[in-house]
Amino acid sequence: MGKGFFTLKFGTQQDKDIAKAKTVWDLSSGSLRLREWTRNFDPHKEISSLSQVWVRIYNMPAEYWHPEVFAAIGRTLGFPIKLDGTSANWEVGSFARLLVEIDLSLPLIDSMTIDCDITSFYVEFVYEQLPRYCSLCNITGHVLDKCKRLKINADGNDSKQAPAKEGNN
Ligand SMILES: [Zn+2]
Repeated sequence: MGKGFFTLKFGTQQDKDIAKAKTVWDLSSGSLRLREWTRNFDPHKEISSLSQVWVRIYNMPAEYWHPEVFAAIGRTLGFPIKLDGTSANWEVGSFARLLVEIDLSLPLIDSMTIDCDITSFYVEFVYEQLPRYCSLCNITGHVLDKCKRLKINADGNDSKQAPAKEGNN
């Protein structure tokens, strides 16, 4: 369909249910996220600020080093896709790697406090290789400083101003 979207058609409801049971599929070229078809879907009108990014999670206590906890953290950051295979075991000073679908139009979360029954702890996030993102066009691929639309706006009479955004180059 273009813009990174594909349509899947299932022969039976059963096949669809089996496929839908797993919302993310690992393919050799990356991870595929399944969504239900919506009426009049147009890939060109979809928000293109979504991107899959590996997030490093630091300062996780050993006793909370659990896939469910990481999934909960991932839901705070965006849509959790998968945990790095090497993040299965805790070691002193180590960090977990979680692949998350992040909306780059929203501010990035760099840390959070996690409250548990008897304690709370503070974790920090480091985003690996954030894609270039333009807040004016709301797409990935170039940064705002290099945006052609911004130059047109500055030269021409269009007074539309883009909000400044840092940290995405
Ligand atoms: Zn742009």
